[in-house]
Amino acid sequence: MIAFLDRFFAKHYTSVLHVSSPSGFHLRPAAAFATKAKRFQSTITAEYRGESVDAKKLNALLSLNLEEGDHFDLVCRGKDAKEAHEALTALFESLMHQEPQNTSQETSEPSYHQDYQSQSFCGRRIAPGIAIAPLWHYQEVRSVQQNDTTFQEAIAKSLEYLASTQDEIAQAHHALLATLSEGVADLSQLQNRIATEIAALEGGQMEAKRIDYLDILHLVEKQMGHSTTIPYPSTPFILVADELLPSQVAQLPTSLQGVVLQKSTPTSHSAILLNSAGIPSIICHQPLPQENPDNDALLDATAGCILPTPLPEDIALAKEAQQEARIQEKEAHKQRFAPVVTSQGEPVTILANVTDLSSAKEAKAQGAEGIGLLRTEFLFDQPTPPTFEQQCSIYHEIFSLFEHITIRTLDVGGDKALPYIALPQEQNPFLGIRGIRLLQTHPDLFETQLRAIFEAAQTKEHIKIMFPMIDTPQSFEEAKAFAKEVAQKYQYRIEHIAFGMMVEVPATLFCLNAFNRLVDFYSIGSNDLTQYLYAIERTHPSLTPPAPPEALYQALEQIAQQADKPLSLCGEMASDASEAAWLVAHGITTLSVAPSAIARIKEALRRA
Ligand code: PEP
Ligand code: MG
Repeated sequence: MIAFLDRFFAKHYTSVLHVSSPSGFHLRPAAAFATKAKRFQSTITAEYRGESVDAKKLNALLSLNLEEGDHFDLVCRGKDAKEAHEALTALFESLMHQEPQNTSQETSEPSYHQDYQSQSFCGRRIAPGIAIAPLWHYQEVRSVQQNDTTFQEAIAKSLEYLASTQDEIAQAHHALLATLSEGVADLSQLQNRIATEIAALEGGQMEAKRIDYLDILHLVEKQMGHSTTIPYPSTPFILVADELLPSQVAQLPTSLQGVVLQKSTPTSHSAILLNSAGIPSIICHQPLPQENPDNDALLDATAGCILPTPLPEDIALAKEAQQEARIQEKEAHKQRFAPVVTSQGEPVTILANVTDLSSAKEAKAQGAEGIGLLRTEFLFDQPTPPTFEQQCSIYHEIFSLFEHITIRTLDVGGDKALPYIALPQEQNPFLGIRGIRLLQTHPDLFETQLRAIFEAAQTKEHIKIMFPMIDTPQSFEEAKAFAKEVAQKYQYRIEHIAFGMMVEVPATLFCLNAFNRLVDFYSIGSNDLTQYLYAIERTHPSLTPPAPPEALYQALEQIAQQADKPLSLCGEMASDASEAAWLVAHGITTLSVAPSAIARIKEALRRA
């Protein structure tokens, strides 16, 4: 009762705020406003056309849809109402003046929600960008020109070629071919063996590996005079294919403008390569009409859609966005090594998510300030477990590139499988043995990995080791105790190593206080956090979380408020300029993004 009376009689301060910016009172200014409002204890509301919303909540503010020319009442009620009122009115004024005149400058990305009029087929984005060119459906022409190479020579040459190629996928293929060709006498036996392997993969977690088997078979066949040519058009085109071999991605012609894969997954090797090559690409499972070489199709990979027969208005809209994106990309690239400070004076750190040595080098060239997530499960996609020496050597090379490195222990399970890790058949693999839970089933793997990380970290000043899929404080304690035992067993010094966790299992949000006492740092895995919050598999072809993802935003706000150790976010959402601006406005100022997104996100945040 007293509290009620207190609130009722508490002094309140109101004023009318005019939205003078042509961009209205939307995401960026509203986020800054709500963040500031949260610093006060008073009740702060925004009242507009009879509706009163909590001004500490970004989404509530956005729901008012305040446009240029509108005005609303700011009402502050409570102990610090006077201070809140003064601070918020001043901030609002400055936000209205700082707002860029042209909304398209708000982020460096074109609008994701183009209102296209023509029929469009939607899918999932692999790499952003816009392509306008005729569709061309994949086809290949196979021929055999007998040569003198014997089967054994063909195997030897293929192995030699793969060994000489400096990328991790080729190394994985080398190991795969070495195993598959053991005891095989001729090409038809190899073909049969590969067909059996592929049949066994069907419908399983490793179906995407099918493409790797085909790739190495093609390589051997090629040595024996079999050739497969793909009659790619020499004029600009958008490729539509079920899937691509990793080696085919490397050989795509310059006339290629974009790719639509119809049977792939975002974690397939070809998707990873298309993304790092920056080729606008999507995965779209719906059948597309046959090409018409005289008609341009429109692929808006940023928005995740393909328009096979776009109307001229849609092409004009896309061209405008494309042109703008190009200008901004160029500008962003020039500034890629410059530090990021937002227009609100907030310094931001941009790190990179990497999967191997080449993406780590790419991250360096793109201006990353360190590695925020080294996904080690992609480093050793080979038939046998990587040895201690193999791991030491690759970690050492990657560690030498940056001062700040966060390396994540193996995160296998769910949609990520490795040939040398037998996982149980589970009804819901995303809810099963995954990430750090493998410590119980495969302690040897973790022991070798941690030992190799410790070895490679001996010459570094700081290294962060991060455990994925931590669900309870106990699971973190167990993982860290295990790491300490390994250090003791092999006599490594680990005082300079920080131990942290991914925040990606919703249960962790309810015990952040306990985690604060245990961890050295946190990194939010928004990909998994989203799938677990909405109970929608992250690889699901048709279900997607609501937009905006209110529950995710609230979860992120809660983490930002309660985490009292260094906090970053390494999920895909940080690679989206407006989401990145939202994160920064909410106090998450260290973001880890794909190497290809670094310059773009840096530039967008400088304007945020
Ligand atoms: C995440 O879940 O957001 C994350 C960064 O980890 P991964 O995508 O590798 O599961
Ligand atoms: Mg994850």
